[in-house]
Amino acid sequence: MSAPVTQLPTYDWEPTSDSLAAKYGLPREAIVRFDVNTSPLAPDLRDVLAGEFFPGLSEYPPSDYAALAAAAARAYGVAPQEILPTAGADEALDLTARGFLREGSVAIAAVPTYSMYRIVTEQRGATFLGVPRLAAAQGFSLDIPAMADAARTADVVWLCEPNNPTGLAEPGDRILEFLDRLAAEAVADGRGAPAVVVDEAYIEFTGNSLLPLRDRYPRLVVIRTLSKAHALAGARVGFAVARPEILAPIMSFRAPASVSTVSAALATASLSRPELAAANVARISEQRDRLTADLKALGWSPYPSQVNFILIRFSSPAAAEAAAEALLKKGLVPRTFGAGHPFTDCIRLTVRSAAENDRLIEAARGIPA
Ligand code: PMP
Repeated sequence: MSAPVTQLPTYDWEPTSDSLAAKYGLPREAIVRFDVNTSPLAPDLRDVLAGEFFPGLSEYPPSDYAALAAAAARAYGVAPQEILPTAGADEALDLTARGFLREGSVAIAAVPTYSMYRIVTEQRGATFLGVPRLAAAQGFSLDIPAMADAARTADVVWLCEPNNPTGLAEPGDRILEFLDRLAAEAVADGRGAPAVVVDEAYIEFTGNSLLPLRDRYPRLVVIRTLSKAHALAGARVGFAVARPEILAPIMSFRAPASVSTVSAALATASLSRPELAAANVARISEQRDRLTADLKALGWSPYPSQVNFILIRFSSPAAAEAAAEALLKKGLVPRTFGAGHPFTDCIRLTVRSAAENDRLIEAARGIPA
């Protein structure tokens, strides 16, 4: 008998704001999410919501999402046939795993990283190998020799650039060096190179997309989302971006229409008005730098960040847990890392609006680092 489905790994959803409000005896409005790396302010797209939808909402969206794909292609500098619209980056990751992994496959990632890579890998019955990143002093960089070695048996290499939860991108040309090495070793071993899936959920904060490298490394799949810099997490729109022949096996697993007409219209507008996301990135980057400075002034130890969240190290796992609990009691929800995680002595905080960040700093005052 095959193993029951319930034994497959599943994602642990964050508690809802309603449940946290009930648990801590707070009004719902007091809860601020510093744990899920969303943006505090949605773009003003009221004109889109108030306008006509084509086709109307009684019909299905066009299966090729032509307008959305065209807007994404223009924004990302690729051809429309290289774009697969998905319900958020998470659906793109799931479909990519379906396209490239099956029982007996291997996928690797540099850890700690976004937890979904392991989950979507193991849900396919494939094996996930986590290759530890270098130390904090080396910016949590990839251990390129160890990654290249592990990649020898891999069908998929998951990369997160910039990485969640460390908040930094790989410096300089190191990704290029890694991709060249993967390609050379595949030739030397007489096998196909693995697919390299680069999750660029936070790329707008650094601006260094790897998309131009798909000519040099054809088996590159880039994952993008409107949930972060575009401040549209509730719309649930993301993309897998790759050369058409690489996109084909991923596309074959997609549902007929997982992105709603409303979401597609919001996403098309946001991609076509790049000044909206750019203003959000500028606002958040400024807030990130001041939040980092303010936390340091309180004696906390935030790591440098290039994105919209900050990883903070405490003196011990107990101190991190106590800090998290103290913040939660005030309705401010941090991301924590469970026992056994390399960052069990850390919390991660999303950069939010000036007023929300002020509340955070006020609450952090007096919490032991
Ligand atoms: N990738 C990374 C690295 C993320 O941090 C997140 C959001 N937490 C996602 C993907 C999922 O994004 P989406 O909302 O587009 O599904």
